Amino acid sequence: MATLETLPFDNRYIHLPEDFYARVPPRPLPRPRLVAVNPDAAALLGLGPEQLARPEFAEYFSGARPLPGADPIAAVYAGHQFGNWVPQLGDGRALLLGEVVGPDGRRWDLHLKGAGQTPFSRRGDGRAVLRSVIREYLCSEAMHGLGVPTTRALCIIGGDEPVVRERVEPGAMMVRLAPSHVRFGTFQVFAARKRVDHLRLLADHVIAHHYPELAGTADAHPALLAAIARRTGNLVADWQANGFVHGVLNSDNMSALGLTIDYGPFAFIDHYRHDYVRNHTDHTGFYAYNRQPQIGRFNVYLLATAMLPLMTPEAAQAGLDAYQPAFDAAHAARLRAKLGLATAQPDDAELAGGLFELMDQGGADFSAFFRALAGYDGAGPVPAACTTLLEPGAHGLAAAWFARYGERLRREKANPAERRRAMDRVNPLYVLRTHLLQAAIDAAEAGDHAEIGRLHDLSRDPFTERPGMAAYAAPPARDQAMPLLSCSS
Ligand code: AMP
Ligand code: MG
Repeated sequence: MATLETLPFDNRYIHLPEDFYARVPPRPLPRPRLVAVNPDAAALLGLGPEQLARPEFAEYFSGARPLPGADPIAAVYAGHQFGNWVPQLGDGRALLLGEVVGPDGRRWDLHLKGAGQTPFSRRGDGRAVLRSVIREYLCSEAMHGLGVPTTRALCIIGGDEPVVRERVEPGAMMVRLAPSHVRFGTFQVFAARKRVDHLRLLADHVIAHHYPELAGTADAHPALLAAIARRTGNLVADWQANGFVHGVLNSDNMSALGLTIDYGPFAFIDHYRHDYVRNHTDHTGFYAYNRQPQIGRFNVYLLATAMLPLMTPEAAQAGLDAYQPAFDAAHAARLRAKLGLATAQPDDAELAGGLFELMDQGGADFSAFFRALAGYDGAGPVPAACTTLLEPGAHGLAAAWFARYGERLRREKANPAERRRAMDRVNPLYVLRTHLLQAAIDAAEAGDHAEIGRLHDLSRDPFTERPGMAAYAAPPARDQAMPLLSCSS
């Protein structure tokens, strides 16, 4: 097991040319203290509970004390934000502390968010607020619990520094882990600068360290593009199947490894609408739920354009074309599983489409409605657990859809009990609902961190019912006030 002083760092990103990053020391928050720490993520680094309990932990992971072996850098990237090209972005408030080799040989980038200004901060203060790091900490672990590829969260560090956003709020930092933080925008920045040499180095770096199966093959660069396209298609299918709206799918927030990254004004959908948005600054619904699949493709198109100097136009087109079939196949498979269908039949897409229409018309809570489907026996009336989630105007549509669903279920061979068990393993009971998260934030801002632990614990196994936790499975009331979420975090 490692100690805080003996974490086995082996920083590979710094071997890339200096145009890839700026060396920046973290600027600690005054009087750093531990708000939350995740033993599951710590174990990936080989840190046991005794290390997490040490007072130095908050000092090392806030930058107050240099972490032996770390070599902090801010990475450069660019990106399309809400469709507009921004040639100069980069880690404006996060630092790559270094790369740690875990006890199982897996490697983890340690990324400290809220670490102060960097050359890429533009007009920002380099800080993050407690509210936003709690959201990212809990949601990345919730996504992991759902089986969705994501960055992980190690800890939240609080401190005595107020930060000005739409109001004055407590500042905080968090450490997140990922095998790599390379984004589509990392390719874009070197393409825009016409640095084909750097583009090639970046592609080779990503292949060597993250897609080793492609190393040494002919056409490795087109194969990399296609592999990223497929992972992205799978990832967006996971989001759609979980009713997850990312909120800010700019190309700088798209991971080259197909991970969910940069949690901002995200939401798990409560009262479903096809064009659900939670980000109140996204007035046009640019990143609405039903646009995520096409935005995923648009981002892969941007990546293909950036990688074009490394391949023929035909190869770039083929890479882009790998996205849609990957999304379609994964999306169809996930929806079949959520509906309890073990076999694939030609009318399944239409059945699923009808369900989304019903949820839209009835404003059904996404997760609760899917969870309640397992209670349908295939013949009787619409289960009460489903009806109560629909506005009365949709009850007629519900009767028609469930009749069709029942007909389809009768074509399945699996016995009903088996089907229900399988459905309960893919339709979560506990999701990180906006109002639950907000309650944890409100308590934390008042100094009570217990709710963070409770939500984290539920997200470790969101599929299994636990006694006394019914309130955590319940959708918000239709008229419940929701916090306004924006990109400003
Ligand atoms: P995000 O929307 O968090 O993905 O951030 C988009 C870009 O703005 C990234 O390059 C961030 O590093 C940068 N950024 C966001 N917030 C801040 C901040 N408070 N200070 C400096 N840079 C920031
Ligand atoms: Mg970002």
